Amino acid sequence: MRVFNFAAGPATLPLPVLEQARAEMTDWQGSGMSVMEISHRSAAFVAVAEQAERDLRELLGIPQNYKVLFLQGGATGQFTAIPLNLTAPGATVDYLNTGVWSKKALTEAKRYCTVEVVADEAASHYTTVPAPGSWQVSAEAAYVHYTPNETIGGVEFDYVPDTGTVPLVADMSSTILSRPIDVSRFGVIYAGAQKNIGPSGLVLVIVREDLLGRSRANTPPIWDYAVMAQEGSMLNTPPTFGIYIAGLIFQWLKREGGLAAIGERNHRKASLLYDYIDASGYYKSPVSRNARSWMNVPFNIADPSLEKTFCSEALAAGLANLEGHRSVGGMRASIYNAMPLQGVEALVAFMRDFQQRHG
Ligand SMILES: *Cc1c(COP(=O)(O)O)cnc(C)c1O
Repeated sequence: MRVFNFAAGPATLPLPVLEQARAEMTDWQGSGMSVMEISHRSAAFVAVAEQAERDLRELLGIPQNYKVLFLQGGATGQFTAIPLNLTAPGATVDYLNTGVWSKKALTEAKRYCTVEVVADEAASHYTTVPAPGSWQVSAEAAYVHYTPNETIGGVEFDYVPDTGTVPLVADMSSTILSRPIDVSRFGVIYAGAQKNIGPSGLVLVIVREDLLGRSRANTPPIWDYAVMAQEGSMLNTPPTFGIYIAGLIFQWLKREGGLAAIGERNHRKASLLYDYIDASGYYKSPVSRNARSWMNVPFNIADPSLEKTFCSEALAAGLANLEGHRSVGGMRASIYNAMPLQGVEALVAFMRDFQQRHG
């Protein structure tokens, strides 16, 4: 029996996509082979990758002057690739520090650049986002990096920073495709696949063309945006199964009505959960109201000794992976695109029942 899986990543995938992949597993499109067993350079597979890119471009409204790359090494690899591709030695770069992932990104950038932390939410224990206008882009910054959604803290920006002519770089791993965005506001968008795109092993990079060709001489070619754009992301063997599944997910998103419809549904799901938490007088959200993530919802109960019981009883009720990240404890419900509204309704019903029995 399938459960409602609230894991933060790798995360739940849409059931129709899993069922299609199962149906096609051993004989893909009449080839007598699975999609995993054909050459990445075959016309059939190249068509899969091209269709995936077309569908993604349509979903996100990606302008013509942006390249779409399907790479490997995860979002963590991009923490390195960003400074290598966008700066010369001695450059200064700006980072907004809003939690675990932005901290990791800026720590890596320090190996290559002078990092200015232009906004730091440490004082709130990373439960807030910096207000627009409360921080400034450094005069000499080569780019500004931020994490629109902090997956562990459950903190999400409710605005896109205005960085003027300085390229804005965003780690969208846990928020991409959750609602419409204006891609033209960004220089580079990157996202590990395993939250809202598909299986792990694939990382998406969307890069504005004028930022290509600035990489340092020692940049690994597999992370060099200009090289990978030139090679159609196939300098080496790409993660073919991941690209295939991502393509099926993009088609599923289109069938579901595209990102406007998905965004409305995500907003409903998140509101249902936060409204219940706030009204319960029992559960608490640690996150400031204007910074609450639509995708990752951490919450606590006053008596932390009940948290283990909460998670084990939830699992017995078919609600899996509600433990908070090991660094922060508590509970966390990740409610990405593939989590249906019924999953959130079932969670709220369970929380109400748990409160009645233990509160
Ligand atoms: C999951 C996540 C990462 C790490 O992704 P990997 O693919 O494991 O490297 C980085 N940033 C954010 C915001 C994430 O949610």
